[in-house]
Formats: sequence, C-alpha cells, structure tokens
Amino acid sequence: MAERISETLQKKLSERLGFYEDLGISLFYRDRCAVATHDRERQLESPVPANFSTPDLQREETLPRPAAKPAFQKAAPVTPQPSPKIASLPVVAGPSLFEAVDKIADDTLLKVRQDLGECTRCKLHSTRHTIVFGDGNPKAQLVFVGEGPGADEDAQGLPFVGRAGKLLTQMIEAMGLQRKDVYICNVVKCRPPGNRQPEEDEVSTCSPFLFRQIDVIAPKVIVCLGAVAAKTLLQTNRGISQFRGEWLEFRGRKLLATYHPAYLLRNPPAKSEVWKDLQKVMAVLGLEAKKGKSSS
Ligand code: URA
Repeated sequence: MAERISETLQKKLSERLGFYEDLGISLFYRDRCAVATHDRERQLESPVPANFSTPDLQREETLPRPAAKPAFQKAAPVTPQPSPKIASLPVVAGPSLFEAVDKIADDTLLKVRQDLGECTRCKLHSTRHTIVFGDGNPKAQLVFVGEGPGADEDAQGLPFVGRAGKLLTQMIEAMGLQRKDVYICNVVKCRPPGNRQPEEDEVSTCSPFLFRQIDVIAPKVIVCLGAVAAKTLLQTNRGISQFRGEWLEFRGRKLLATYHPAYLLRNPPAKSEVWKDLQKVMAVLGLEAKKGKSSS
C-alpha cells in the first residue's frame, strides 16, 4: 500500500521547491541516473611528463571572457575510438530533487553567477572570504571539477591556484593545453573551514550551480578531480578507486574521474595513474602531449 508522506516532509519539499524557483529552476524530471561506459581499451603507455614541471600560473578572470579562439586549435587529428561498451554504475538511491533539475533554457554563466549572488544559503558563507565561482574558457571542451576552494583560492577568488592548483596547471600543460583553454570549477564555491571536506547539505545546496555551469559550457569531457566531485556528479557512494579512469556519463556527457592533485602531492607515485587517465581524455579530444617531456 502506498505510504503517505508526512506533513513535515511535504513542507520541507515545498520549501525546497520554492528555493529552486528562487534559483530560476522550475522543471523536474525523475528518470536520471549515471550510466557508465567502460573503456576497454588498453592504457596508453607514454611516460608521465617530467614531474609535471613548474607552471607559469596565469591570473584569470572570475567570470569567463569571450573566447578569442576556439579551444584546442592545436589539436592533433583524432585517433578513431572503438565504441565503448555501456555499463551501469550502481546508483545509491533515486535521484534527489537537485539531480532531477532539468536544464534551464537560455542559461548563461553570467546568469548562474548572478543567481548565486553573495550567497548565504549554507553555513560556509560565514567563514569564506571570496566566492570561487570558476574560471577559464566558457566554451571549453574540457571541464575540471574539484572539491572546494582552499585558503589560496579563498583569498584570490580563483580555483586551483595553491599547491594543488600548480600541479593541476602542470597536468593541463602536459596535455598540450593552457588553463585558459579549459574551465575549472568546484563542487562547493566557498572554502570549507580548515580545508575539511564539504558536508552533504553544503554539497546539495551548491551543486545545482555546478550543474548549471556544466550545462551552459556543454563540454565534451568532464574530469572529476577526486572523490567529492565524482560522487557529486555520479551520485554514487562507491570509492573512486573502483571507477577511476573509466568512461562514465553525466547528463549525456563523457565523464572521467581521476585522483585529486592534492592526493598526488601526498602520493606522487599515483601520478602515473592520473597521466594514463589524462591520456584517455586527450585521445577523445584529439590532443597531443606537450613536446619535450620525459619520464619522471
Ligand atoms: N582543491 C580543490 O578541490 N579546489 C580548488 O579550487 C583548490 C584546491
């Protein structure tokens, strides 16, 4: 027999729906879940670029600039990829209301930023200095999603500008790209105090803005940096090592999860795994590794 939902739950749901409407989100659908596409190809064997050597960090605007040229102009011809087999990544529960958010017609990054405003929706606002919205090419074919700003990002208002950010920049450059070619953002836009992981309520409050950013940018590939990003976009509780490096999907876009650069700083041998993952991304995007790099 169907169970009636309690009045308290009904009230909470209607408050939550009201909140979505405040965000300009009014359409919902229920049948959305992550679909995994396993990549059965052999891993590419090229060596890890030397130490992901010291980058020249560029300061970039918080809101994207019009692209002067399409991303990846230097791209080498794409090697034909065998069609991947589709497999399902087990989904923990049915879609949450936020997951069920449909795309917003005529959305732009500017609208997303304006809707975010000087956000006070979750407790992270009380300790943050700067909202870190995201940065890079608004038409990027490749989007990197991290966890949340750290101290340097909170101070500068830009994602991945601290130690982990320098390593990410090196990874991007090793792929033959520059930071301005890609878009970089996070699951939460305010720094969790003491660099703790963002909590569930913080993620569910902030992630609709991330989803809108991804929908607007419409990248060919999304790379999740670390478990928080992967779990948020894939709605899974599985450990990242179980699906790291596999082709999965987020709203019909190719998604690959790899280790977070902060993890690589603690565990440098894992760089070779990440490099293999990035090479898969490069193959899909038709990119060639930066020349003059040798194995580390
Ligand atoms: N770590 C993240 O996940 N994001 C940042 O922006 C910086 C460090």
